[in-house]
Amino acid sequence: MNKEELLKKLTLISVEGKTVKDLYGEISAACMEEIVKTWDEKPARNAYYLSVEFLMGRMFFNNLMELGVLNEVRNIFAEKGFDLNRFEEVEDAALGNGGLGRLAACYLDSAAGTGYALHGYGIRYRYGLFRQRFENGFQKEEADDWLKWGDPWSVRKESEKRTVRFADMDVTAVPYDMPVLGKRVNTLRLFQAEGSERAEKISEYLYPADDTEEGKLLRIRQEYFFSAAAVGERIDEYVKVYGGRFDRFPEFNVLQLNDTHAVFSVAEFLRILTQEYKVSFGRALQLARKTFHYTNHTILPEALECWDEELVSRILPEIAAILKKLQVFAAREWQKKGCGKSEQDEMSVLRNGRFSMANAAVFVAEHVNGVAEIHTKIIKERLFSAAYKYYPEKFLNVTNGVTQRRWLMLCNEELSALYDGIFGTGWREDLSLLSAENFLRAGGAEQLAKIKRAKKKQLAEYIAKSEGITPMPDAIYVSQVKRLHEYKRQLMTAFAILRLYYAMKAGELADFVPMTFIFGAKAASGYRRAKAIIKYINEIAFKINSDAEMQGKLQVIFVQNYDVSYAEKIIAGSDVSLQVSTAGFEASGTGNMKLTMNGAVTVGTMDGANIEIAQQTGLRNNYIFGATVEELARINESYDPSEIVGRSPEIKAVTDTLIDGTFSDGGSGDFKELHTALFQGASWHKPDHYFVLYDLEQYVSALLKMNSDYRNAGAFARKQAENALNSAFFSSDRAIATYAEKIWKIDRAQ
Ligand SMILES: *Cc1c(COP(=O)(O)O)cnc(C)c1O
Repeated sequence: MNKEELLKKLTLISVEGKTVKDLYGEISAACMEEIVKTWDEKPARNAYYLSVEFLMGRMFFNNLMELGVLNEVRNIFAEKGFDLNRFEEVEDAALGNGGLGRLAACYLDSAAGTGYALHGYGIRYRYGLFRQRFENGFQKEEADDWLKWGDPWSVRKESEKRTVRFADMDVTAVPYDMPVLGKRVNTLRLFQAEGSERAEKISEYLYPADDTEEGKLLRIRQEYFFSAAAVGERIDEYVKVYGGRFDRFPEFNVLQLNDTHAVFSVAEFLRILTQEYKVSFGRALQLARKTFHYTNHTILPEALECWDEELVSRILPEIAAILKKLQVFAAREWQKKGCGKSEQDEMSVLRNGRFSMANAAVFVAEHVNGVAEIHTKIIKERLFSAAYKYYPEKFLNVTNGVTQRRWLMLCNEELSALYDGIFGTGWREDLSLLSAENFLRAGGAEQLAKIKRAKKKQLAEYIAKSEGITPMPDAIYVSQVKRLHEYKRQLMTAFAILRLYYAMKAGELADFVPMTFIFGAKAASGYRRAKAIIKYINEIAFKINSDAEMQGKLQVIFVQNYDVSYAEKIIAGSDVSLQVSTAGFEASGTGNMKLTMNGAVTVGTMDGANIEIAQQTGLRNNYIFGATVEELARINESYDPSEIVGRSPEIKAVTDTLIDGTFSDGGSGDFKELHTALFQGASWHKPDHYFVLYDLEQYVSALLKMNSDYRNAGAFARKQAENALNSAFFSSDRAIATYAEKIWKIDRAQ
C-alpha cells in the first residue's frame, strides 16, 4: 500500500456540490484502488470460515484506520469543509443478527490483523437484519436497505460465479469479495443468488421466518446455497492444481463451520467426491474428517437445527441420500465401538425422520469446540455426552474474543491514546502488554475516569439526537445491550428497575446515586414474548421518565435500532455492564468482553464468559450474583415461583404490574401471557423456565451494592481500570491464535 499516493489522490477529491453518498463512494473507491494491489496473495494452506452471518458494521472508519490514514483523511476533508463524521449516516451492512455474526467479523479482523490466512464465506443478503423503530413502545421492523448507500468496499467477481443445483432449479452464485485489512489482506466472499426471481429469493433476507414449510425450505436452500458454492469452489481450485486425487486436499483447505448453518457443506463435499470424482464413500469421509471443524454456539434446543428428511429430499435428493448414508456409516462405527442403543440415538445423524445437523457435524468434524470454558464443559457432559465418551479427542474449548481494533482503538480513541502514553503503541498488536499495575502506578485510574466522563457525554449527545431523550449527565450509565431473548433476562432487569422505583417512591434508598438504564435490543419478528418485553420496558421507561419525583434520580432509555455502530458508542460510554443470563444458557457472550475492555464493571451471573471475566479481572471488581449451573440443576424439579411471590410482597407488587393494569399492552394480552409463562408455564416449559424470579432479589442487592460503591469515586475508578487493563485474554487475537495452533494448524504469514 502506497500511503503517500493514496493521500495525494484523496486530496484531489473535491467536495463541491457532492452528497454524503457521493463522497462516501469516491473516497472508498480511491482506497479500494490501493487495497486491491496487494490483495490476491494467498499462502498454500488457508482456513475458511463458513458462516451464515457476518456482522461487519461500518467498514469506512475501520478500513481507513487499518490503512493508517484515518486522521490524515479527517484533516484533508476538514480543510475542504467536510466533516468525515457525516459518514455516520451511512448505515451498517447488518448481514448478521447478533453475537454469532459479530464473532465471525471479529475473527476475520483478528486473523488479518495478526497475519493468518483466514477467509470468510457467506451470503450477500439484499436486506440485512431489520431496522427497528418504536411506535407507541412496540417494536416495528423496517427492511434494511443497506445497498442504497452503494457497496464501495466489495468487488463483484462475475467471472467466478458458479451454479448451485436444486432438484427444481439451478441458481447462480455470484461472489462479492470484500477485503479484510490488517497485516495481510484476506477476503470475505459473499455469494448472491441470481438467475431467476425464485433464485433471487435465496439471498433476499437474513433468517426468513421458518414457521411454515415454505419458510423451512427457503432456509435449507440458503444454507445449501452458500455451503455448496464454497465447497465447490475449494474443490475446483484444488483440482486445477492437483487433479482428481484428493489426498492433499486437507493439507491446503481448513473449513471451520460456524454453528450448524453450513453443515450441508460436509454433505456436498462427500457428494462431489463420490459422484463426480468416484472416490469411495469411506475414503471421502476420511478426507472430510481432516478438513472440517465445528464450533457449537448454543445448547438451546430450538436453535439446534434439525431438518425433515422429507423436505431435504424434495429439493436436494442427493444430499439427503448422502446424509442417510452418513448415518449408516456412523452406526457401523458406533457398533464397532460398542456404543449402546441410547448413546447411538443421542449421536444419530438421522432419527425419527429428521436430520440432526449438529450430530452430523460432530461425527465428521476433526475438532468440536465450545466457546467458553463452562459451555465446553456443558457440551461434553450434556449436549454431546455420548460423542464425548467415544471421541474425546475431538473436543476442546476456545473462549470467544473481540477485536480491540474496533472495540477499543476505533470506538475509544481517548483511552487508546492514554494507553499509548503509558505503554507505547505495542499493545495495539498485543493487548497482553497492558499492565494494570503500571497503569495504576502512572495515575491511570483518574485519567480513565476522566475519559469515561467524556465518553458518557458523547453517548448522551448521540442518544439525545437519535432518541429525543437526554441521559442524565451525572448518573451511573448501566447498559444491557444484546438481542432480546428470555434467557438473557431483560425482563429480570425490568423487574429490578421497578423494585428500585417502588422503593424510592416509598421514601427508601436515601443515598441512591442516580442511575440511567440503557437498553438496546431487537426481538426476532416472530418472537411474541420478546416483543412483549420490549413493550413492557418501554412502558416502564415512560412511567419513570415522566414521574416528576424521579427527575435526576432514575431514568430508563431503550434505544432504537441497536447495531454495531450504536454498540461502539454505548460500549465506550457505559459504567456498568449487565450480563444476567440464566446460568448455563449464554454460551459465551461477547458484549460482556467489549464492555470490560472499555472499563465497565459487570453486574452479572456465573454464566458463559462472565466466569472467565471474573477470573481475569477479579471478583472484587465486579458484582456477581445469582444461581450457578449446579444450583439450578439441583432445584430444577422443586422450583416454584409462586412460593417466591408468596414470601415477598415487593416481588409480588412488581410482577402484578403485568396483570393489574399499571401498564398497557395495547389490549394485546401480551403482558398477561408473560405473567402466565412465569407462574403457570406453557406447553413446552415449566413456570419461570429462566429463573427470573429466583435470582431477582439477589440482582437488586447487587445493583444496590454497586450503587453504593459508586459513591467512592476513587475506588470505583480503580475497579473500572482493573477491568479494562485485565481484559487482554478477551482479545480475538488470542482466540484466533488458539484456533490457528490447535485446530487449523496454520502459521502466521510473514
Ligand atoms: C457484540 C454484539 C452482540 C453480542 O452481544 P452479547 O451481549 O454477547 O449477546 C450483538 N449485537 C451487536 C451489534 C454486537 O456488537
